[in-house]
Amino acid sequence: MHPFSIAVHGGAGTILKEDMTPELEKAYLQGLQDALNAGYAVLEEGGTAVNAVKAACVILEDNLLFNAGRGSVFTKKGVQEMDAAIMDGKNLAAGSVAGVRNVRNPIELATEVMLNSNHVFLSGKGANDFAIKQGIKLEPDEFFFSQFRYDQWKSIRDSDNYSLDHTHQGLEELMRDKKFGTIGAVACDGEGNIAAATSTGGMTNKKYGRIGDSPLIGCGTYANNSTCAISCTGHGEPFIRAVAAHDVSCLMEYKGLTLQQAINEVVNVKLLKIDGEGGMIGVDANGNIALIFNSAGMYRGMKNSKGEEFIGIYKD
Ligand code: ASP
Repeated sequence: MHPFSIAVHGGAGTILKEDMTPELEKAYLQGLQDALNAGYAVLEEGGTAVNAVKAACVILEDNLLFNAGRGSVFTKKGVQEMDAAIMDGKNLAAGSVAGVRNVRNPIELATEVMLNSNHVFLSGKGANDFAIKQGIKLEPDEFFFSQFRYDQWKSIRDSDNYSLDHTHQGLEELMRDKKFGTIGAVACDGEGNIAAATSTGGMTNKKYGRIGDSPLIGCGTYANNSTCAISCTGHGEPFIRAVAAHDVSCLMEYKGLTLQQAINEVVNVKLLKIDGEGGMIGVDANGNIALIFNSAGMYRGMKNSKGEEFIGIYKD
């Protein structure tokens, strides 16, 4: 069998050991481990990369600690509006949703869009209507509530301090509060097919229907068997302007860079030039994995069929 592998992330930002309690650190590591195990189990049973990334994302969406599904951040209006995308590197099929509410697992809805809608990207009420039609599980507002995210939001809801406030101080404050908790997964299956998925509540206190990079194919999420599968996390606006995930693919396709070199170029050179703080995880069709970020930390993990396994939060 072709070697298989999976990687997950739970967001990047100013994640410092000194801000963490041992209990919280343990809970984050366990959350990443659970997601890796779920995705890896799919691959081990001969499942597809698409099903593996979806399974890993569902675990992270259901975990209150991460900013996706349950535990998503609050918008300016005090509700959760979630974005998600999935892409199949085998045939470039893709599905995305933006600004959906009450959908328990937005990644399942994105997958439904990919497989059964004849479209790639659905938003807002229309996406919710499609969820109902397809029998996707919905939950009441209370299900998504977390005290941590609520307190985070309460401290800035009366200000205009939100993610799109590009002042350096505003961004730093937001990141120090660990508001980037987007989740994602990439995988290479036993057939050598690759896939990527990303899911997020976006940025705390976002307004005007703001959408980040996560559900935008080529920006926060991209997969192509001939190059790579990528899931990003960080300040979405620079990632959109850099068309970050697709740029990694281009560097591999047109310049012959390896996965590691290409991600390094985008994260540590191109994104840094436009204050694009964050990181990304990637896999290629040989099962190689790269986990690279330019922020203080990124919740991340990987596991492959060669028996290699890693889970980390901080630099080094
Ligand atoms: N990239 C996401 C967004 O801008 C945020 C994150 O990664 O946590 O919506």
